[in-house]
Parts: sequence; structure tokens; C-alpha cells
Amino acid sequence: MDQDFLIRTAAFDWLSRTANPETGMIPWKELQQGFMFGDTRISLASMQGIFKPKVMQLPLSIRTSPEDPYGDGFEGKDVLLYKYFGTNPAHPANVGLREAMKRRLPLVYLKGISPGNYCAVWPVYIIGDDPANLLFRATADMQFSYQVEKEEDSNVITIRRGYAMAQVRVRLHAQSFRDLIMRAYNSSCSFCNLKHAELLDAAHIIPDSDALGVPEVTNGLALCKIHHAAFDKNILGVNPDYHIEVREDILEEVDGPMLQYGLKGMQGCELHLPKQHNQWPDREQLEKRFDEFIRKVG
Ligand SMILES: [Zn+2]
Repeated sequence: MDQDFLIRTAAFDWLSRTANPETGMIPWKELQQGFMFGDTRISLASMQGIFKPKVMQLPLSIRTSPEDPYGDGFEGKDVLLYKYFGTNPAHPANVGLREAMKRRLPLVYLKGISPGNYCAVWPVYIIGDDPANLLFRATADMQFSYQVEKEEDSNVITIRRGYAMAQVRVRLHAQSFRDLIMRAYNSSCSFCNLKHAELLDAAHIIPDSDALGVPEVTNGLALCKIHHAAFDKNILGVNPDYHIEVREDILEEVDGPMLQYGLKGMQGCELHLPKQHNQWPDREQLEKRFDEFIRKVG
């Protein structure tokens, strides 16, 4: 076994233990600090996008900084487009990544979500080199298939990777949207002001399944779990003047404190809105959504 292989494997193991198991989120500091491999400290990233630890021959990770939240776009749903380092295809970083492609080496993709916070995806593979457009094509895989790959049907690998990358894309967009919303609303429910991030969701006003359901702050609300569900099920609605309305039959119902305070108590309340006016929900989107609420109620 060569040393590169051992370090790569150790890096994946370390990520499995260190990144959030559900979201893949990991602080930048941890990535820079990395882990000990024997007596050598191995970082997972540096300021350079295509990163190769000194003791390795070929790159270990590729990174997109958080200042570029939707950069490194996708081609279709399942292929990541990763820009070259600079504009010279013969730069050592680009040569290294090209070599990783030829040898089918698994890499880590680090996507900056907010300053200091990254979403880690591994293993990803470089599957195409496009010098005319100065970019690489990459795809993810669901498991570490470094060794078994040669015996597998290449169609199976392609389908599995396409699926994995599509999942990654959804996850990256969801993380970026959540981050935007939580910052705008200062991590508190826009209905009840609850301030526990672990109980809050970034809710879409127009659902993301709709073409108008863009992942922008003006199409979102920070909502606690119960208010998110009540909003989605049209138990609570928001009118275009930023006031909450409760479905009529709910107002007539009598039950315990959750119904009394949590739902009925919201009637007529004003939304808790972001400090910056340009981050407030878009009135047209609210109106469109509110029409649906009225229709369901009526
Ligand atoms: Zn709430």
C-alpha cells in the first residue's frame, strides 16, 4: 500500500468521525487543523482551492469558498463543475487534479456555506477535464469504493454516482438557504420568536418544488418546527401585510396550551422580520401563498 492511499483513507475516516453525520458540516478551523498521521499533521484544506498536503503526491481536497455560495455550478443535477486554479491548465494544481482523474483517486469536496463553515462531501471523483472552459467535472459517490470499483459494472457506478451527486446538490442548497435565513432572522421563529436554532427550520414561502420557489431570503421564513408544519399545512397563514391568520375551524377548537397559545394565540400577530428591509419576505410571494391558504380554508 502506498502512503498516499493510507493518508487518503485516514482522511475519510477522520471526516466520518468529525463532520456532522446528518449535514456533513464541519468548521474551517477543524479542516485546517486536520489530524495526526503517525508524527505528521495532515490538514484537509489550505487557502488554495485544490489542496495537496506536503507529504502527498496528489491532491486530497477541492474547495469552494463561502464568498461564492452558488459558484462551481452544476451541470444537470448530478455533475459538479469545478473551476481550474487560475487560467493555466499546466499549473501544478491542475496537473495534480488531472492525474487524480486518470488514477481515479477519491477526493474530498469542501463547499463553504458561511464564513468558517463548510459542508464536506466525500468521496468525489474527477470524471472530466475541460481545458477549453478551464474546469473539471466531478461527481460524488455514496461509499468509499476505491478498491472495489474495478470489478463493478461502469453503468452501475455512473448511476450510483449521479444519484449521490444529486443528493449532494440538494443538501448544499438546503444548507445555503438555511444559513441565509438563520442569519437574516437572527435564529428566531418569525411567528413566536423562539430562539433555539435546533428547533428552527428555514421554511420556503413558495415551495422549492415550484419554479418560483427560489432559495432566496425573500422567499423564506425562519419558523420553529410546529409553526413550520402549521404553515405548510395551511393551519396558519401569513397575509401580504405580514400578519398571521389562523384557520377558522382551529380558532373555534378548544384544547390544551399548544393549541391555545401555540396556534390560536398567533391570530393577528405581526411577523418578527429581519432588521434589513431588503430581506423581508416578498409581498407577491406572500400573496400567492396566502391565496392558497384562503382557498384551502374556504
Ligand atoms: Zn414558532
